[in-house]
Amino acid sequence: MMEKYNTEDFIVFNTIQLYRQDRLEFLKEAHQKSRERNYLLGLKLVRGAYMEKERDRAIEQQYPSPIQSQKSDCDRDYDNALRYCLENIQHISICAGTHNEKSSLLLTELMRQHSIAPNDKRIYFSQLLGMSDHISFNLSHAGYNVAKYVPYGPVADVLPYLTRRAQENTSIAGQTSRELSLLTAEQNRRKKLRK
Ligand SMILES: Cc1cc2nc3c(=O)[nH]c(=O)nc-3n(C[C@H](O)[C@H](O)[C@H](O)COP(=O)(O)OP(=O)(O)OC[C@H]3O[C@@H](n4cnc5c(N)ncnc54)[C@H](O)[C@@H]3O)c2cc1C
Repeated sequence: MMEKYNTEDFIVFNTIQLYRQDRLEFLKEAHQKSRERNYLLGLKLVRGAYMEKERDRAIEQQYPSPIQSQKSDCDRDYDNALRYCLENIQHISICAGTHNEKSSLLLTELMRQHSIAPNDKRIYFSQLLGMSDHISFNLSHAGYNVAKYVPYGPVADVLPYLTRRAQENTSIAGQTSRELSLLTAEQNRRKKLRK
């Protein structure tokens, strides 16, 4: 589809899940292929949301788990994917779908190092609606492109989907407590101002 539609602009994007051990290599190969066949590469970079499912499936079907053995390996590959894309930004457009503050900050620093304007249309940051607004709002305020990702559909389908995500995804617990502590800190700051 990219070969067909991404000849002059970035229309079609593929998602790369960096929690998989093989995806950084896959990204580089996808880039090489796009150069050989002369089309533009659109990528949404995420860590990945189905870690538990992938691991269970690997055990059930008796093949080695495709997931990185530890979170730090996933973080390293995510950040290296950002570095690789920025080094090849003349042919790549990215949407960084992440709530990770360090990776978001790294991307802003890489953009500065490569002299890329904050509002360059090849680079988007994206967070889910209702999550990590502190990242979205601050980036947007500083002039970066930010998209809020809105899961939608019939209530009967969406609620069970969101519940399953909450149950399956161990990372949500960390995310929620991180945001609650930011809200509590802000509440305390305002209380002090009133005194
Ligand atoms: C806009 C947007 C679009 C998204 N679209 C998709 C999509 O299309 N497909 C999809 O799969 N996900 C998608 N996600 C979810 C995403 O993959 C992550 O699950 C979620 O954003 C949490 O990761 P993080 O980068 O925000 O940061 P963090 O909170 O720093 O990282 C948590 C993530 O790290 C990884 N991780 C945690 N522990 C380990 C471990 N022990 N070993 C290896 N890895 C580990 C997991 O991927 C976990 O979700 C999307 C997220 C956003 C914001």
